[in-house]
Amino acid sequence: MKTIKEAIQTLAQELNIQKIGFTTADNFEYLRKSLIEQKEAGHTSGFEHQNLDERLHPKLAVENAKTIISIAIAYPNKALEKPEKTDYRRGQFSRGSWGEDYHYVLGRKLEALAQGIERIAGEYNYKAMVDTGALVDVAVASRAGLGFIGKNGLLISKEYGSWMFLGELVTDLEIEPDQPVDYGCGECTRCVDFCPTTALLGDGRLNAQKCLSFQTQAKGKMPVEYREKIKTVIYGCDICQMVCPYNKGINSHFHPEMEPDAELTNPELLPLLDLSNKQFVNKFGTMAGSWRGKNPLQRNAVYALANANDKSALPKLHEIAENDVRDYMVDAAEWAIDKLENGKTRIRPRR
Ligand code: SF4
Ligand code: SF4
Repeated sequence: MKTIKEAIQTLAQELNIQKIGFTTADNFEYLRKSLIEQKEAGHTSGFEHQNLDERLHPKLAVENAKTIISIAIAYPNKALEKPEKTDYRRGQFSRGSWGEDYHYVLGRKLEALAQGIERIAGEYNYKAMVDTGALVDVAVASRAGLGFIGKNGLLISKEYGSWMFLGELVTDLEIEPDQPVDYGCGECTRCVDFCPTTALLGDGRLNAQKCLSFQTQAKGKMPVEYREKIKTVIYGCDICQMVCPYNKGINSHFHPEMEPDAELTNPELLPLLDLSNKQFVNKFGTMAGSWRGKNPLQRNAVYALANANDKSALPKLHEIAENDVRDYMVDAAEWAIDKLENGKTRIRPRR
């Protein structure tokens, strides 16, 4: 006869969940000092859950919470197909933004898991969380033994590297907790060394404001010091994952809905600038990387065209500089024109 824990582990496998672990609903008070410091230092992105007590106390989410069930799904980190060769330079989206938004994919998995658990354990109380939920997902997952928190701030497992999305169910079930893993970064500092903006603090913490992933998603003008650093990546940044030894040889393809469509994840940059809102939604709307809308992507595409030294973009860039009503697009086009025509950029005063 299987225990409840074993039955839930089997259910997770049937649901195509790559990793599952269990931890107590004890608080995460040890994170309080660090979270306050990060906020006071201006290192946060603003996308975090804002109530600190709720971030640290699972029992505020579910009365009498006893166990948190942490899950991970591995997402594709290598494209199976290359985009067609055309006359246009292409940009890239980071891997986590390929395919359907993981908030939906994980949300469905957690709901199916929660319902399956009810069939196994009877009625119980739970709350599902993915990313924007209150708890710190990586802290939950590491305590539940899914992997360790690397110096890049991400959860890393031997089986899937850091190419995983995390979610959890806070429950009032009593289930034996798992132990944290016994491996880690050791002496390695590759992610810290290779981060192009020195955004990683070296202890697993990040200055989100310096991170290209945040900067490519932020609206308005991008600070000048990051514009060349994005190269031709118009959404996100994968560098601190690509250089991690734990990611060597990982090639996950478990979730067809998250597989990339190369025409979308490597979009032609110049045509991207001509898309109306409606055309953008029709083309990119279902892809995770479109959640901030077309404007930041079009702005980034302008930087990327300059970074790719694509002089064929100059007529379009002049048109934008003269006629676009969006001030950050005019600013981006002027910067790109300067770079393409003069081979360098003068640092312009921020408007
Ligand atoms: S995502 Fe890129 S910019 Fe951000 S910490 Fe990692 S390497 Fe640095
Ligand atoms: S690159 Fe090295 S230091 Fe960074 S997360 Fe991976 S193992 Fe840790």
